[in-house]
Amino acid sequence: MEKKLENFILKGGRLIDAASGRDGPFDVRVRGGVIDAIGADLLPGGATVIDVQGLIVTPGLIDVHLHLMKGLGAFGVDPDVFGVGSGVTTVVDAGSAGHSLLNIFRNYVTDNAKTRVLNYINLSTLGGVTGPGYSILADPRLIDEDKIEKAVEANRDIIVGIKIMATGGALGAQGLKPLERARKLGDTLRLPLLVHIGESWTKDTAPVHVGDVLKYLRAGDIVTHMFTVHPGGLLDGNGKLWPQVRDAKQSGVLMDVGHGLHNLNFDVARRVLDQGLHPDGVSTDGHRGNRAGPVYDLPTTMAKLMALGVSLKQVIEMATNNAAKLLGRAGDLGIVRVGQPADISVLKLEEREWQAVDSQKGTIPAHQALLPVYAIRRDTIYEPLPIERP
Ligand SMILES: [Zn+2]
Repeated sequence: MEKKLENFILKGGRLIDAASGRDGPFDVRVRGGVIDAIGADLLPGGATVIDVQGLIVTPGLIDVHLHLMKGLGAFGVDPDVFGVGSGVTTVVDAGSAGHSLLNIFRNYVTDNAKTRVLNYINLSTLGGVTGPGYSILADPRLIDEDKIEKAVEANRDIIVGIKIMATGGALGAQGLKPLERARKLGDTLRLPLLVHIGESWTKDTAPVHVGDVLKYLRAGDIVTHMFTVHPGGLLDGNGKLWPQVRDAKQSGVLMDVGHGLHNLNFDVARRVLDQGLHPDGVSTDGHRGNRAGPVYDLPTTMAKLMALGVSLKQVIEMATNNAAKLLGRAGDLGIVRVGQPADISVLKLEEREWQAVDSQKGTIPAHQALLPVYAIRRDTIYEPLPIERP
């Protein structure tokens, strides 16, 4: 359900916005799609009142890792399912399209979505065409720097980085060479690398050591699947962080959750968090095959982090201000500010007991649930799609 309103006010909510430093009872007024006032006890001034008492108002939530090429293979999902249909205003595709599919992605996905759709271009020309179980980087001809550069330059407004599958299965006989080429390309194009770690698909190949992957990463690059239990993850055989992981984090490499069907494991997450390594980004790795569980949506993934001990404020900051920084869009996204187009999420924090389930069906008790209530983009207010959550 969606409705357009020329003039409305979100009244009585708790605004949590790390970017502006606000956490408290602030009303937000929107006129002609633009925020025209933020303050305690604002007068409606003729605006339609939307009662958000007892609810949480945040900058529009950002989900930084999904598979959004609807119709592509078993995974591609309509961006509005995990987007405005889940209380989220910005979704980012992680490598469905290589350079040859990028125009199709732009014309059929980005331009038709109600949600803002950004894109990590795949280093491999094949992108997500084959599905994840193939060696999409094992033939050197499958990386074409010139064509990637052309596609990026024509689509800078939606491209936020380059996606690389750093698995033995994807790299095959090329070993680390694709990472070397990705590094050069990232530097040339001034784009961060988004690197998948964890041998979640092909079990019969030797995994790539995360320490070898991290050698190619710099400040602002992103490692996704930080809580994976599969070979190639952040922990050594004794459950300790590899020393290279700490060094990378110190040097400014960012860590993202990337829940998905395989890569959120509560035991791993506990160990990683206990050793003081915290996520920079929270994401669903949402696709057609995990919407009905174990992933559901971004608010549920955020609530799972809360069950692991991350605070509400921290998890909201991850999904707003931090996500905007990670995408190179700070100041533009992830903030509620007068004069900017309205881009807002409204959430409900419910105090209740439930069992959070990870990708391996492990459970932990959770005491709070987080539910989407509205996603707001300019003058349009979207209600979430029905979903059965745990
Ligand atoms: Zn993914």
